[in-house]
Amino acid sequence: MKDGHKTSKKSEAEAGQSSIGIYAVQCGECFKWRVIPTQEEFEDIRSRSVEDPFFCHKKPNASCDDPADIEYDATRMWVVDKPNIPKTPAGFQRGLVLRKDHSKFDANYTTPTGKKVRGPSEVASFIESNPEYKDLSVSDFSFWTPKIMDDTVPQTAKRKGSASKRVKTG
Ligand SMILES: [Zn+2]
Repeated sequence: MKDGHKTSKKSEAEAGQSSIGIYAVQCGECFKWRVIPTQEEFEDIRSRSVEDPFFCHKKPNASCDDPADIEYDATRMWVVDKPNIPKTPAGFQRGLVLRKDHSKFDANYTTPTGKKVRGPSEVASFIESNPEYKDLSVSDFSFWTPKIMDDTVPQTAKRKGSASKRVKTG
């Protein structure tokens, strides 16, 4: 039984935004993939997937008897998350940016003030300079990035990647 979650990404996704196009989780019983409509719901499931594994019946109106929502194949690029990444703190937004050569992702958080933080030390200095978030700690944030499934990376990805816009970050 796999307990990792996969997220799939459309290769034509806009550069810059969170580059994940579709979120899906695998049922622990029938192993079918169920599409999860929002990043927030997906992160909620992911944050407790070890102690509270996902099954089809946890999705409204779904059961293991229904056909899979989505199949794992090379029609789209798949990336795999590990379970139990902490749920993004309220007001923050977690983003993943795919490198142009499709080699890996970089994780970041957009803070409630609109600032982007890209690592634990930037989180620490954000909390330090914004005392209203002092209840948060660096461990509430994870810069772990999903594994890219090589067998689903489009042949043309490298070319496409280099043609995509560079993300300006501030
Ligand atoms: Zn199922």
